[in-house]
Amino acid sequence: MTEKPIFNAPDIESERVNELSIKLFQAKEELARANEELKATQKQREEMLSNISHDLRAPLTAIRSALDVMLLSENLTPEEAREFLGTIDRRTRTLESMVNDMYYLFCVEDTGKKLDFEVIDAAPFFEEYFFDATTDTRYDDRDMQLDMAEDLSATIYIDVQKIIRVLDNLFTNAAKYSESGDTIKLSVKKDFSEGKEWLVIEVSDTGIGIPEEALPHIFGRTYTVSSARTPNSKTGSGLGLSIAKAVVERHGGRISADSVFGQGSTFRIELPLFSPGV
Ligand code: ADP
Repeated sequence: MTEKPIFNAPDIESERVNELSIKLFQAKEELARANEELKATQKQREEMLSNISHDLRAPLTAIRSALDVMLLSENLTPEEAREFLGTIDRRTRTLESMVNDMYYLFCVEDTGKKLDFEVIDAAPFFEEYFFDATTDTRYDDRDMQLDMAEDLSATIYIDVQKIIRVLDNLFTNAAKYSESGDTIKLSVKKDFSEGKEWLVIEVSDTGIGIPEEALPHIFGRTYTVSSARTPNSKTGSGLGLSIAKAVVERHGGRISADSVFGQGSTFRIELPLFSPGV
């Protein structure tokens, strides 16, 4: 009498086994990659939090010191009191702008939050932005130039308020890091690269420029306010360019900067042109 086998080996062909083990290997690789990405994001967040608390500490310390002196001094003259109050006022504004910008950046980076996209005719949009800027007193003594072909025909799909915010950040910087008589130029044109049509927007200035060693870091989220980088900036949050990068990237675009220290800077934004059906 023949014995009944205790265990029936599953009838899997060796080809199928190979296929499954390759899939298993790929899944393992993918998991390892996702894990690495998670670790990098975690590290970035930790660095950002540490930078944020470092950056918030400077204005807070200044406010605390001014208040301490005011509380402890018995014979403050009205002029001295005004001076301390002026410091508190300035530093409080810095804090406000930092907190507002941090919140704005978190919102833009949250891909779960939808942007308000609409189809826009680029030429009138940029023309209007430029002419509004020329009436702003901040640019009164700058030589404002617009370089855009009159017959530029380009449509873009953008969140108008967010792109205005990017332009505001770049224009404010151009004014902040230049002097009376310097040129601030907005140029807008079409370009074709990587098999796609782009709208290229450049904001350039003939101001102080950016040191070569700082250039790779200026868009970094963790590279924020530093008195060494921004000796004259009293109210900047240091997040303006990080916000610009986040907004442009949520539009499927790119942003970059070129600069010659002492001669000026050019910020270049590339936005994909709108093509219906895409
Ligand atoms: P901030 O509030 O410090 O201006 P940003 O993120 O807008 O923050 O800019 C980051 C840094 O890049 C600035 O601190 C400054 O050193 C440099 N920068 C930005 N735009 C310009 C410019 N147009 N000219 C020179 N330096 C600039």
